[in-house]
Amino acid sequence: MEPVTYLDHNATTPIRPGVAEAMASAMACAGNPSSVHRSGRAARRMVEDARERVAALVGASPANVVFTSGGTEANHLAIRGCGRRHVIVSAVEHPSVLKATDTPKLVPVDGDGIVDLAELEAMLARDETPAVVSVMLANNETGVLQPVAAVAEIARRYGALVHCDAVQAAAKVAIDPKNLGVHMISVSAHKLGGPTGVGALIAYGDIQVSAVACGGGQERGRRAGTENVPGIVGFGVAAEAAVDDAAKWSRIAAWRDTLERRALRAMCGVHVFGAHVNRLPNTSCLAMPGADSEIQVMMLDLAGVEVSAGSACSSGTVTRSHVLAAMGVAEDLARSAIRVSLGWTSEERDTERFLNAWCAMHERTLQGQGQGSPSESYAA
Ligand code: PLP
Repeated sequence: MEPVTYLDHNATTPIRPGVAEAMASAMACAGNPSSVHRSGRAARRMVEDARERVAALVGASPANVVFTSGGTEANHLAIRGCGRRHVIVSAVEHPSVLKATDTPKLVPVDGDGIVDLAELEAMLARDETPAVVSVMLANNETGVLQPVAAVAEIARRYGALVHCDAVQAAAKVAIDPKNLGVHMISVSAHKLGGPTGVGALIAYGDIQVSAVACGGGQERGRRAGTENVPGIVGFGVAAEAAVDDAAKWSRIAAWRDTLERRALRAMCGVHVFGAHVNRLPNTSCLAMPGADSEIQVMMLDLAGVEVSAGSACSSGTVTRSHVLAAMGVAEDLARSAIRVSLGWTSEERDTERFLNAWCAMHERTLQGQGQGSPSESYAA
């Protein structure tokens, strides 16, 4: 039987070598990191060791790292815990940012999904009290990178705090806080080869965040609750491995670009979102007009290729993508969009398998529409 071709790394990515073993030995340690006895101190050492590794991934000091239950909680902690009542976020943020408060103001984006800097500035100028601005580094559906340094430069001129959801970008692009100029970033272990259910908010410099989950003094009073020691340990191992593995992303970008070129050549009507702007090296958001994205995902699954329809972060129910809607994409086209995302386990042959399956599906779709065969079929 053909192995499954997993091309859904933006949903979650397989754990890296060494992660499961490190987590298993952490699980075998009975200590609570807050306990002062030997077992407690051993658990504390594991947590602090992981904190150093995660800090190294994002150019931070270990003291800046607040471990959370994932990217969602890190985003909430940043936006709700930073003490600013006015919240300005881009229209293409992940739902965990969009829903962190009841009334965020949305900055529009252009047709490629890039935030409108002039409108951001106008919104900041209208605000009477300084805001918190949250703009993601890379979009989870399209991979499009935002001009976060420019966002931060404008926001700082108006005394705003700047948060950046770097959940999809961390480990795929270098994160240099000096260049980005942000006050806080969110990261999540399971997007970079660590376990699910653990992430971190990085609060750079002397930025203070107040706990959203209260009732314990853990994480220097910034996040209550006994630490997820095995998860944090796995996060640390994955973060270090991700730093060591950074060279692979240029190869992945080349495979992704070839995939898109061949898809466009072989099938008329195919559309690539964000093709002409800076994107993550691994993500391709593609539309096959006339073919419903959910059906595409199911047919590709039957062919042994796993991708997703838009964002698979939530419950598996596919609603209209708010990202493509904000980009002004027509509903019909958006309804036929799928996301192909490569990752650290990907090989070039994975993209070939995807193309073979997608082209075969395209042919069947055209036949179903009574349009006969495409002019050129895909040949690797
Ligand atoms: N932010 C972005 C951009 C994401 O893509 C995701 C998950 O897909 C999250 C936040 C949420 O992260 P987590 O699953 O760790 O809560």
